[in-house]
Amino acid sequence: MEVKKCLRCGCFFASSNNICDNCISQDQIEINNLKTYLEENNNFSSVEELSINTGISQKNLNRFLEEKEFQCIASDLSSGIFNINLN
Ligand SMILES: [Zn+2]
Repeated sequence: MEVKKCLRCGCFFASSNNICDNCISQDQIEINNLKTYLEENNNFSSVEELSINTGISQKNLNRFLEEKEFQCIASDLSSGIFNINLN
């Protein structure tokens, strides 16, 4: 199995996922929070705003928005989404 660096916490692990086992549950919680938020709100204009309202870091939001299920939302956001500094 390939050794990867976790996109969330930066630790090295062996898995087919992009994040380590410790972070998967955290990701699931945040993705659920994001889904719930998006079901109730559709008037946000930036990832920064989403981050403030959901408590999810912009870095993680950008990662989630690359997932297939969120692509339609990502394309709805202004092009500013792609200019966000991931550091
Ligand atoms: Zn991790």
